[in-house]
Amino acid sequence: MLVDAYGVLVDKSGALPGAADFIRLLESTAKPYLVLTNSASRLPETLAAEIAEAGVPIPSGRVLTSGALLADHFRDQGLAGARCLVLGPADSVEYVRRAGGEPVPARPDADADVVVLADQKGFPCLPTMNLTLGLVLRRLDAGRPLHLILCNPDLIYPVAPGHYGFTAGGLAAMLEAVIKERYPDRPPPLVRLGKPHAPIFDAARRRIAGRLVMLGDQLATDILGANRNGIDSILIGTGLARGPTDGPIRPTWYLPSLVDEGFAANERQ
Ligand SMILES: [Mg+2]
Repeated sequence: MLVDAYGVLVDKSGALPGAADFIRLLESTAKPYLVLTNSASRLPETLAAEIAEAGVPIPSGRVLTSGALLADHFRDQGLAGARCLVLGPADSVEYVRRAGGEPVPARPDADADVVVLADQKGFPCLPTMNLTLGLVLRRLDAGRPLHLILCNPDLIYPVAPGHYGFTAGGLAAMLEAVIKERYPDRPPPLVRLGKPHAPIFDAARRRIAGRLVMLGDQLATDILGANRNGIDSILIGTGLARGPTDGPIRPTWYLPSLVDEGFAANERQ
């Protein structure tokens, strides 16, 4: 079982109904599970502690974040010791350190081999985006290699009803648009680690053998990612999605909430 965190186990108000019992059930039946989240702003132990404080007891070893995927990516790409400009708060920088990268300060004349777009918090947005843009274009104009990595591909996040904020994926879309305009024939790849992209599901598969099912509240990340990666999915109605739609992204099952008795009766989509 792959379980999204926000909108499934917790939200701004705390634990969602049935979440603590659901995790206790998974633990007591020894059902393998991972909490799969696009967060790269908090370390797994920080996230687990926050969710536990909200009333859902999660061991930190069960938390797989997009930030934690940096370690595999750095190893696969031979990036140990690479200088990294990191966009995100202190825990994002720590993820990069744990992956073997060497964070560099965000200064106007900064140079780095890797730009990690981890999270939208922890820095003054426009000045930091401007110096990141300068770094990226200086390197690309000079024909020097550059690794661009996006941990959390979410474009926006809900702040309050009718109010939204840009997420790291939204900032990456700005950079990507500029890069594509300047280098239309050979834009450098921007590697995306979190849902709906393959790296986070590949990492989950390495941790859990057998048939997987993804339980999540977002069509564009949880359900699309499961569909693309050959994983069954359950859309839950306690977060962003208000139910399955007739659109192209369809879950295998729909569950109104973790305490809903009608789960077994829900028709397969
Ligand atoms: Mg969610």
